[in-house]
Amino acid sequence: MPSCSAKCGRNAILKRPKTSDVLCKECFFEAFENEVHFTITRAKLFTPNTTVAIAASGGKDSTVLAYVLKLLNEKYDYRLKLLLLSIDEGITGYRDDSLDTVKQNRDDYEMSLKILSYKDLYGWTMDEIVAEIGRKNNCTFCGVFRRQALDRGANLLKVDYLATGHNADDIAETVLMNILRGDLARLSRCTSIITDSGDGIPRVKPLKYCYEKEIVMYAYFRKLVYFSTECVFAPNAYRGHARVLLKDLEKIDPTVIMNIIHSGETMKVSETSKMPKLTNCTRCGYVSSQEICKACVLLEGLNKGLPRLGIGKSSKVKRLLKENEEKNKSSGICRGEEDKTCLCSGTDSMKPVKINELVLKELRI
Ligand code: SF4
Repeated sequence: MPSCSAKCGRNAILKRPKTSDVLCKECFFEAFENEVHFTITRAKLFTPNTTVAIAASGGKDSTVLAYVLKLLNEKYDYRLKLLLLSIDEGITGYRDDSLDTVKQNRDDYEMSLKILSYKDLYGWTMDEIVAEIGRKNNCTFCGVFRRQALDRGANLLKVDYLATGHNADDIAETVLMNILRGDLARLSRCTSIITDSGDGIPRVKPLKYCYEKEIVMYAYFRKLVYFSTECVFAPNAYRGHARVLLKDLEKIDPTVIMNIIHSGETMKVSETSKMPKLTNCTRCGYVSSQEICKACVLLEGLNKGLPRLGIGKSSKVKRLLKENEEKNKSSGICRGEEDKTCLCSGTDSMKPVKINELVLKELRI
C-alpha cells in the first residue's frame, strides 16, 4: 500500500481525482476543507456576523456544503449564522423522500430549516405541472420556479447570503452548454462565484472548485447522510449531453474541468455584442430581461390552460400576454400591472399568490 503523499506517515487509501495525489483519509479531508476555506477567503464570500441560508436539497452537494460550512465556521470563526432553506417542488417519490434527508441534516448539524413549496408559492406542484404539460419541458418550469423560489425564500428569511452547492462539474457543464447554445449573456455570468439573486441577496458558490467525484468521496468517508436517487421526471436533456461530453473529456484528462472554468472566467464578451438589459418584472418585481419574467409567463400559461405559453419565443409570449391582460381588464377580473405583487394577474380560477403576503409561520417548516 503506498504511503500518503502528504508525508504524514500513514498509508494512502485514495487517489484524488482532481490532483492525482494519493492520500490517507485525514489528509484528504484537510486538503478538501482547506481548498473550500481558500475559495471562501480569496473571493471574500462572506462578511462576519451575517446570516447564510444554505440551499439544501438533501443531495450530496448541499449536504457536504452544510457540513463543511459548519466545520469551517467553527474552525476559522467566520461568525456566520447558518440555516437551511429547502424547496419542495411537489415531486412524489423524490422530493418527499429527499426532504427527510434534509430534516436529518437539520438535526445532525443543528441548523434551523425552512421549507417553501411550489404549491404555497405558485399554487402548483411539479406533479400537477407534469400532468398538464407532459415530460418534455418539465425541467424548464422546475428550474425557473426553483431559482425564484430560493430567492423568495432568502428574502422572506431576511438572510444576507444564499449559498448553493454548485460544484466544479456543474459550472464546467454550464459553460459548455452556453457555448453550444451561443448564449452570451449566460456565458458571461455563469462562472461568477457571487451573483445577484435579483432581490439584492448575493448567491455564493463555495464549492465552485470542488470536483463532483471528490464531493462524493468526502461524503462517503465522512459518512454523511445524503439522498442519491434521481428525480422521477426525465432530467434536462440538453444538460445531459454537456454532462456526457464533460465526463468523456475528464477520463482523458481530469484537469479539463478546471480548464473549462478558467476559460469561462477569462472569456470576455465583445462590447459590440447585443446583451439583454436587466429590468424588473412588471408583475412580480423579480429581476428579468423581459417586461414579464419567465416565472410569471410560465405560471400564466399554466393558469390559463396554455401550458406552452412560456416555451415559445418571447415576442409571441408578449403578444399573447397583452391580449389576455386586455381581456381580463375589460372583464374587471384583474388589475393587471397595478397589482405588482400578483404572480399570475389572476382570474377566479387562478388562485393568485401574493408573495409579499406570505407569512413564514404559515408555511410548512
Ligand atoms: Fe425538477 Fe427536472 Fe430536476 Fe426533476 S430533473 S428536480 S423536474 S429540474
